[in-house]
Amino acid sequence: MKELVVVGNGMVGHRLVQAVRDRDTAGTWRITVLGEESRPAYDRVALSSYVDGKSAEELTLPAGADPLVQLHLGDAAVAVDRDTRVVRTAAGRELPYDALVLATGSVPFVPPVPGRDLPGCFVYRTLDDLDAIMAAAERAVAAPRAGRRSAVVVGGGLLGLEAARALRLLGLSPQVVEIAPRLMPVQVDEGGGAVLRRLVETEDLQVRCGVSVTGIGEDRGRLIAALSDGIELDADVVVFSAGIRPADGLARGAGLPVGERGGVLVNTACRTPDPHVWAVGEVAALEGRTYGLVAPGYAMAEVVADRLLGGEATMTPAELDMSTQLKMLGVDVASFGDALARTPGALEVVVNDPVAGTYAKLVVSDDAQTLLGGVLVGDASKYATLRPLVGRRCRPTRWR
Ligand SMILES: Cc1cc2nc3c(=O)[nH]c(=O)nc-3n(C[C@H](O)[C@H](O)[C@H](O)COP(=O)(O)OP(=O)(O)OC[C@H]3O[C@@H](n4cnc5c(N)ncnc54)[C@H](O)[C@@H]3O)c2cc1C
Repeated sequence: MKELVVVGNGMVGHRLVQAVRDRDTAGTWRITVLGEESRPAYDRVALSSYVDGKSAEELTLPAGADPLVQLHLGDAAVAVDRDTRVVRTAAGRELPYDALVLATGSVPFVPPVPGRDLPGCFVYRTLDDLDAIMAAAERAVAAPRAGRRSAVVVGGGLLGLEAARALRLLGLSPQVVEIAPRLMPVQVDEGGGAVLRRLVETEDLQVRCGVSVTGIGEDRGRLIAALSDGIELDADVVVFSAGIRPADGLARGAGLPVGERGGVLVNTACRTPDPHVWAVGEVAALEGRTYGLVAPGYAMAEVVADRLLGGEATMTPAELDMSTQLKMLGVDVASFGDALARTPGALEVVVNDPVAGTYAKLVVSDDAQTLLGGVLVGDASKYATLRPLVGRRCRPTRWR
């Protein structure tokens, strides 16, 4: 029997174990999983529903007892010795491996501003983070003093807006501070960002774009977030949601190559240059690029499971698609293909209806024959029709 060690019991590590067990009918691999968090894998994509009242048990991903899978929770891998093929853990375990899969995900990026570690400052990534945020919000709401209870969210991307919605549900008035000139700068363009901003502001959310937080201070028990434009925002809670960084420290320590912007460098088979070591999910830099969505991670897990059982699977470009459709604070948003029109010569067709609160942009090739991507805000009902057309030559027709 061969030993497989999986470091990380997040969404993708969990999928990998399932995928190996589904294929490994002969029981070739004995699997040991190390999870730094104290809970078994849960649905991180649905993390915010914890604030709506879903329990940790309801969010837990299904996993039955299996004699070939051993899970060690609350024990992080701290070192990998690639010469002897052994993983060492914080609790002192030494786990030999024939194959090692790194599925350590990402960590939130917290800008290096003074005061970022003060009590009341949080990140938004795990159930433990949410427990801490909920406790702080509860204390703030219960405090016997006048005035509104407020929060500052640093970052106006997808997760920042989710955090703001959660804070509002917890009884705080959130203000979102985004360094870029618009909300969700990765997914939507300037026009879409403006419509999105108008729509979320009607949902009792204050937004400040084009400014950064330069420091966090304290005044009479409240936090003060200083902004680059000189304004100071007082808050009971500050949540940093300013992006993520791949948790690639273990790989770096083991001398494995990492991508230019971090992440464990792997090829389209998700294998590192060491044939015994693989990386999947947010920690993997597939041909140099990391993917912050769960679907590409799941596809990577399937590829590695196939390879571990003798297959030849590789990641396909379609599996690395970063298209997204979501409802954010009640607002439909979708972004697909070359949404920001980066292709040379790309043309943009925009329908912006400020009265209806909808924005739609199609990006097409310079001959207007091929759909390259698009952005939809306020009404994303055409997303399912448009997304499959990306890259295909389309007959020009009136679009309504
Ligand atoms: C609030 C929120 C909303 C999101 N919404 C969406 C969405 O709508 N759509 C979407 O596609 N994606 C979404 N995502 C992103 C999605 O959750 C991630 O892409 C996905 O969880 C990545 O899975 P992963 O297994 O690579 O990493 P993770 O789920 O982060 O799991 C990695 C695990 O490894 C553990 N670990 C790290 N280092 C070690 C170590 N040394 N030893 C042992 N264990 C270790 C970590 O503690 C963690 O539990 C969202 C994320 C958040 C936080």
